[in-house]
Amino acid sequence: MAAECLCGCGREVAFRWRPVNTRGRDLRATVTEIKKTPGRGRSLADRGYVKEVNRACEKLAEAVHEQLPADNDLERETRDLLKKYRERYGKPGFSLGRWQIARR
Ligand SMILES: [Zn+2]
Repeated sequence: MAAECLCGCGREVAFRWRPVNTRGRDLRATVTEIKKTPGRGRSLADRGYVKEVNRACEKLAEAVHEQLPADNDLERETRDLLKKYRERYGKPGFSLGRWQIARR
């Protein structure tokens, strides 16, 4: 199955960047979930989280577009965001892709 870029540009993602892309999709899914859950997304903490995710996803998409080598800082940052989500909201209602493998 071909993987499409997390940013929605329709670009196909080379095999090497699929883990990066999957992380981005997971992050996007957390934002979608926050937005569709009643009572969420309005607090300062929620809005801060969404903003951080959007910023991180821009960087992830750039890595996919430019085929940049793995960036450890970005990797840590995105992993922390997913961890933060889990701590704050509990287990996500969607399946986390590569992240589950990466966090072991
Ligand atoms: Zn893209």
